[in-house]
Amino acid sequence: MIQVNATAARPTNPIACTVPFDEDGKHHGFLRLPYSRNDSAWGSVMIPITVIRNGEGSTALLTGACHGDEYEGPVALQALTSELEPKDIEGRVIIVPFMNMPAFRSATRVSPLDGANLNRIFPGRPDGSPSEKIADYFDTVLAPMADYVLDFHSGGKTLDFVPFAAAHRLEAKLQEASCIAAMQAFNAPYSLVLLEIDNVGMFDTAVENHGKVFVSTELGGGGTATARSVGIARKGVRNFLIHAGILKAEPVVEPTESLDMPDAECFVFSEDDGLIEPIVDLGEEVEEGAPIARVWPVGRSGVPAATYHARRSGILVGRHFPGLVKSGDCLAVVAEKVDPRPQ
Ligand code: ZN
Repeated sequence: MIQVNATAARPTNPIACTVPFDEDGKHHGFLRLPYSRNDSAWGSVMIPITVIRNGEGSTALLTGACHGDEYEGPVALQALTSELEPKDIEGRVIIVPFMNMPAFRSATRVSPLDGANLNRIFPGRPDGSPSEKIADYFDTVLAPMADYVLDFHSGGKTLDFVPFAAAHRLEAKLQEASCIAAMQAFNAPYSLVLLEIDNVGMFDTAVENHGKVFVSTELGGGGTATARSVGIARKGVRNFLIHAGILKAEPVVEPTESLDMPDAECFVFSEDDGLIEPIVDLGEEVEEGAPIARVWPVGRSGVPAATYHARRSGILVGRHFPGLVKSGDCLAVVAEKVDPRPQ
């Protein structure tokens, strides 16, 4: 039998954090990722990070802009870095408002440096592309430090959602229950047990594999934020920290609708290129088989539309955002209304 060289040293991740993780107080700094390029031979990608610590306790890792065109998380977390003080907490809060800084700066979903979607390349590589190095750092350094992880998403430029916090169905039922409780504590208008189209390579899956309490969100979309969606993010992150036992304050609790995505019948994908005519708006109820959208051909006039139907009854929680759709695009997402899980 050939002996595999198990002793070969794992390459070191080149990202350096400029602030301490284990000192009390509030420290603003950077995750500095060396990135040599034409305009800066010894340059770096600078990813802002704030670490706030007050004694022993749980650690929360709060992240935004895993995708660079989603804004509620960056707004709420950037505000939190200014507003949250060590005296307000017990334990530690690690805030990275712009996790995928290159994509955030270019207002794109994927990184302009390597074309990678940060939320599809976990666990990353310490010796890989810039995005792979970011993923590896979060997987091997930041996520292991955390007890609770909140990762903000929205629909970006091509999707729009009703505002929801999400947890996943997990094989580890105790962990699943903890994630669902934290999702409900976030208290978005909708709380959704989310089925991913493809969870391989996601930050979510990596954090869940570490056994952590993980909550994600989809708070809107269209490549912008609204007063309402930002308000939900700002309230939710505080509620999440209170739930984690870190922030000492009273939660703000409003009604939340519990939703579930039991299977792939929740998704409707377009098989046509064309112009979308919405038939149902976000948050409205639909019956299985009811028309949900039409896609009109645009090459010539006088050609009928293709009509797409809901594949299950429920609430329209997500849909394609721009007016034009391509074959293969996600056209609609329908989730089922369910009773809230007991906490
Ligand atoms: Zn996203």
